[in-house]
Amino acid sequence: MTMPISSTKNSFLILFVFMICGGVIATPPEDPIQCSSKNTDCTITNTYGVFPDRSICHAAEVIYPNTEEELISAVASASKNKRKVKAATRFSHSIPKLVCPDGEKGLLISTKNLNKVLKIDKEARTMTVQSGVSLREIISKSAEAGLALPYTPYWWGLTIGGLMGTGAHGSTLWGKGSAVHEYVLQIRIVTPAGPEDGYAKVRNLDESHQQHLNAARVSLGVLGVISQVTLNLEPLFKRSLTYLIKDDSDLGDELASFGRKHEFADVTWYPSQQKAVYRIDDRVSVNTSGNGLYDFFPFRPTLSAALTVVRATEELQEATRDANGKCVGAKLITATLSGIGYGLTDNGIFLGYPIVGFSNRMQASGTCLDSRNDGLFTACPWDSRIKGEFFHQTAFSIPLSVVKNFIEDVQKLVELEPKSLCGLETANGILMRYVTASSAYLGKSEDAVDFDITYYRSKDPLAPRLFQDILEEIEQIGLFKYGGLPHWGKNRNLAFLGAIKKYHNADKFLKVKEEYDPQGLFSSLWTDQMLGLKEGVTTFKDGCALEGMCICSQDSHCAPKKGYFCRPGRIYTEARVCTRDVKKSKEADDVKDEL
Ligand SMILES: Cc1cc2nc3c(=O)[nH]c(=O)nc-3n(C[C@H](O)[C@H](O)[C@H](O)COP(=O)(O)OP(=O)(O)OC[C@H]3O[C@@H](n4cnc5c(N)ncnc54)[C@H](O)[C@@H]3O)c2cc1C
Repeated sequence: MTMPISSTKNSFLILFVFMICGGVIATPPEDPIQCSSKNTDCTITNTYGVFPDRSICHAAEVIYPNTEEELISAVASASKNKRKVKAATRFSHSIPKLVCPDGEKGLLISTKNLNKVLKIDKEARTMTVQSGVSLREIISKSAEAGLALPYTPYWWGLTIGGLMGTGAHGSTLWGKGSAVHEYVLQIRIVTPAGPEDGYAKVRNLDESHQQHLNAARVSLGVLGVISQVTLNLEPLFKRSLTYLIKDDSDLGDELASFGRKHEFADVTWYPSQQKAVYRIDDRVSVNTSGNGLYDFFPFRPTLSAALTVVRATEELQEATRDANGKCVGAKLITATLSGIGYGLTDNGIFLGYPIVGFSNRMQASGTCLDSRNDGLFTACPWDSRIKGEFFHQTAFSIPLSVVKNFIEDVQKLVELEPKSLCGLETANGILMRYVTASSAYLGKSEDAVDFDITYYRSKDPLAPRLFQDILEEIEQIGLFKYGGLPHWGKNRNLAFLGAIKKYHNADKFLKVKEEYDPQGLFSSLWTDQMLGLKEGVTTFKDGCALEGMCICSQDSHCAPKKGYFCRPGRIYTEARVCTRDVKKSKEADDVKDEL
């Protein structure tokens, strides 16, 4: 059965009408930490309500320090009792299980109440904040002081401690680059210690402790709990943004040079539509007129009912293998987003480009976090309490020197299967952002383009998705053929296979980890696996490749009963992907019938 095109269209139209009606109220996301009795016997998950392996993590207790003294005492208590411990944040945005202490007896130290801006020095252009302060707060408080953090992630719900944990970034090849940790001048971090230091030590890291600073700027949370961060800011500035849609025939050639030409450039790619949207975004004089605001549509509060309709449509399209429906939906959604300027306005309306505005209003957004409890009438689209978006996110950065080859490989796959990537276009395509080489030991090793690919995830872990093989092949081409570095805070488990070997300074990071936390209290099985200290990033069992828990090596890792078998990739033959083979599955059925 194929979903009629009209109903596909309707679903997306409903979504947009409802998004627009949604206004700026939304039910705030649930606390990722839930305890059965006050602050003990707790579980923790992420903002999507699901980790890559679908497990829920446990902790015996959570502590919410309000001050650095309380934080020190929390770390000391874990250290004294040799208890596994992790820093956790208000929203827990990372996909992998970074935030889980091993076992059930661990301690969570939440930075929810460490949410104060401590000092803004206008002369020195610096800002010191507690580690649980959100990006939104940093951006708005800087602007009030006439200052700006020039390049930031696009979602303002992240905390400074959490985004440094995974090396989160925006997009630029200019200045010191797009990662926030490049603008960190000083870090106060609380680490475990021996009895002579009262079981916890505050380390004040600045440029005179370069090696320790390089480790702590991207730490995966395994060094201790960051208490405070001092950021280097610039005078507030204005920028002018225009989105330009082009066909993607020269995308491979354009990509590297485009990032050098425009300071805040990024590109959104719709490969099945053979289109790319170039963000031409540059600094302009503060006297340029314009009161622009970028309130990105997909980050706005959305009516739960609309999200349910869209999800149901997606599920039906998957169940009926309705690639056409996905492509129609993708075209509609991308045309609508483009028509409404993706959420850009000038003085409240969008009448065309360029949109000029102050940097604090043009970079990050996330109004679906705004809290006025409306009983889940509206929510962030991925809120797990409603039947809304449910997806995998694959994100890796590919060096500029080979990015053209990667683009061409994806284009070859699209030539073979033109409709294969419509599904990810309904999630607004592949976002490509510029990232730069970093001195942080776990930061990027060279200038690169970061690819963010979001695609359907079934509620049933054993259900293959439409064009499963093409998506898996792209993932493996990016990560293994071109040595892409996985975003530490996104991705399915297989992305971290051998990842640490791609970091030339990993040994230096591990040395600092050994010095700060020799007992590995802030480490877990998962962080040890990510850091190459233990085996087991991937696990093999029936259907494991469908969820990215393994790369298939035999048919049972796919879904042979549903016609999906482990096969080489179509253009990257080293890849092993779950490919639909109707003929083979029919033969197997016939043999079974004969028996
Ligand atoms: C809607 C959305 C949009 C996103 N947009 C972007 C983007 O534009 N760019 C980008 O690069 N990424 C983006 N991400 C990914 C995100 O940046 C990372 O996952 C980030 O690390 C999450 O920050 P958090 O504050 O939620 O921290 P968490 O996910 O809770 O924690 C991340 C890690 O940091 C550790 N940690 C947290 N606080 C501290 C502390 N005080 N001291 C020591 N360790 C600590 C935790 O233990 C954990 O290991 C996005 C994610 C979502 C959900």
